[in-house]
Amino acid sequence: MKKKIYLISPRGFCAGVTRAIDIVDIALKKYGKPVYVKHEIVHNKFVIEELKSKGTIFIEDIKDVPKGMPLIFSAHGVSKIVISEAIKKQAKTIDATCPLVTKVHIQASKFDSLGYHIILIGHRNHPEVEGTIGQLSEGKITLVENKLDVAELELDKNQKIAYITQTTLSVDDTKDIIKALKLRYPNIESSPKEDICYATTNRQNAIKKFAGKCDAFIVIGSNNSSNSNRLVEVASNAGCHNSVLLENKDFLDLELYKDANKIGISSGASVPDHLVMDVVKRFKNYFDIDIENLELEKESVSFKLPKELR
Ligand code: SF4
Repeated sequence: MKKKIYLISPRGFCAGVTRAIDIVDIALKKYGKPVYVKHEIVHNKFVIEELKSKGTIFIEDIKDVPKGMPLIFSAHGVSKIVISEAIKKQAKTIDATCPLVTKVHIQASKFDSLGYHIILIGHRNHPEVEGTIGQLSEGKITLVENKLDVAELELDKNQKIAYITQTTLSVDDTKDIIKALKLRYPNIESSPKEDICYATTNRQNAIKKFAGKCDAFIVIGSNNSSNSNRLVEVASNAGCHNSVLLENKDFLDLELYKDANKIGISSGASVPDHLVMDVVKRFKNYFDIDIENLELEKESVSFKLPKELR
């Protein structure tokens, strides 16, 4: 029997990732190699290896950047301390923080200036969360990861409280956490618009709509990619329990799919589409397959480059 491969979209690169990778490429052309990047520019191993081969050096500690060199901040954003360390190093800084992450930073500062204590919903140790917490001085932002953390909050109910979120969370899990926050703090304020970004929402909605009809689901993405991991959870929650995260075609065990007739494939926001097509090709060479594109909606978002590279 012919297998059906459903290629789900929107999938793959979002506007923030495209911009961040373009920034590194243009900086390499403008300044020559090497250029330094604080943290992986986006969470995808293929992208990182490719940029390394072109002369990019990825660092975690600003101490490792020689004085005066070009230094790019990754799409996840950085704390104020990192920016001042870079200034001390006289680095030529270029900010590849996704504008939708910057929007959350600005909102945090606004709430702070209006006297609110801020609750950030996000994943501990994720670079975006560290960057957002680092926009304000210590103690001004409290991180919650789940409803249990909400139950343990000890903030005074009479103080001004607002919440913001990481941009790449599960839309459904976050709704539950927000509900719990509103129960504990009925007057809690929030950003005027959702902090979870359009790309995260669209990729999750597409999988939510189509994964239920699949016997198996594959999300192409790296282990450390928050949005990719969330897509696997969404596929499972939509009823496709055989849902996995796959780095690339080399990790695909085709035998595992011999009994699956309908296989859905999508990818995280930091994944180049040729990695998806490589996986499809391996299916094609091994099984008799039919490919169907299932698209929830078209995306047309794009972001301007930073002015120093325009
Ligand atoms: Fe920006 Fe969203 Fe892409 Fe992250 S996933 S880079 S927040 S558009």
